[in-house]
Amino acid sequence: MMDPKPGCGVTGRAFGWVNVINGTPGHASYALWREAVAEYQRLKAALPEALFDARPGSLIWRATPQETEQLADLHQRAGEDVELLKRSVIAEWEPRLRRVPECAVFSRNDLALDPARLAGTYVAAALAAGASTRFGEKVAAIETANGRVTGIRVSDDTLKADVIVMAAGSAIKVLAGELGIDTGIETSPALLLRYAYSMPVVSRILRGPRLEVRQASDNTLLVAKSYVENGAENNPQAIGERTLAVMMDELDLPDDIVLASADVGDRPIFTDGMPRLGFLPQVDGLYIVAGHPGVILAPLIGRLTAEEILDGRRTELIPDPS
Ligand SMILES: Cc1cc2nc3c(=O)[nH]c(=O)nc-3n(C[C@H](O)[C@H](O)[C@H](O)COP(=O)(O)OP(=O)(O)OC[C@H]3O[C@@H](n4cnc5c(N)ncnc54)[C@H](O)[C@@H]3O)c2cc1C
Repeated sequence: MMDPKPGCGVTGRAFGWVNVINGTPGHASYALWREAVAEYQRLKAALPEALFDARPGSLIWRATPQETEQLADLHQRAGEDVELLKRSVIAEWEPRLRRVPECAVFSRNDLALDPARLAGTYVAAALAAGASTRFGEKVAAIETANGRVTGIRVSDDTLKADVIVMAAGSAIKVLAGELGIDTGIETSPALLLRYAYSMPVVSRILRGPRLEVRQASDNTLLVAKSYVENGAENNPQAIGERTLAVMMDELDLPDDIVLASADVGDRPIFTDGMPRLGFLPQVDGLYIVAGHPGVILAPLIGRLTAEEILDGRRTELIPDPS
């Protein structure tokens, strides 16, 4: 049985940080990240309910004040609206921080949001606009004839289609693979830890050398970590318990906080760090849209996908067959 509702894939395990500050000025993906973050303002105007509980702002610091200053400088020179805050301001803004850094980069336009809820809002808006959905059913295969798509096989039924958008995250590898197409999609695991708590602790996303944490609107504390499967002592639960000790060390917290879940998500990625969207050259009518960081990119690549399919405006984010 496939997922019963929107946002049950890796999206439901995402941290939900919409930002450019984790991008690298000069990298091929950087301009796209900036465009994608700006697209959130369009989304806010078009679909206000999508962002109703999004929280703005993040504070980031590195191991040394010099490194933090360099980070601020790099992003300021790239034209981002970031500011270097001093210790007294950080302490006032985030009074539960136990080891207040000498300085931190404040990125005011960042957003923290619930990716699964956002996915649900998109689907509700699509339904209101006349779309139909079939959750809980698996696409067994993409059907083709004479080099073009004809439909998708679902259970014992075939749904006819002249355009098929593959937005199945890491499952694209199998779906396209069955047609003999290597899209180059790979997966990179990351860990989302959720800690149950009932009181407000942090107001912004905090990212220091030891901890990346934010608090959801229901006060759950969320921590994102990179993940490498590596023996019993490094299973998600064990990492979650160790991270709790770090969190208690970094934040002024009571003893009754518990690890509620520790979930690994396989992030769909391409090794060049760019997403892919566009018609695949191998089969007419077959469109791919996937890439990292998918929550940040979603409103932008969603719009570009619609514009390309409906208006023929090419996005050029897929290698040209020539
Ligand atoms: C710990 C962690 C933190 C992260 N933090 C961030 C962040 O802060 N910001 C950010 O932008 N990104 C973040 N990401 C990455 C982000 O989660 C992904 O880039 C994004 O969710 C990918 O979305 P997707 O729709 O491509 O894939 P998915 O969310 O996996 O969606 C694919 C959907 O396709 C469905 N599907 C698959 N195969 C089939 C089939 N055969 N038939 C029918 N349906 C099918 C699945 O059920 C699923 O619902 C994070 C990821 C992790 C794990």
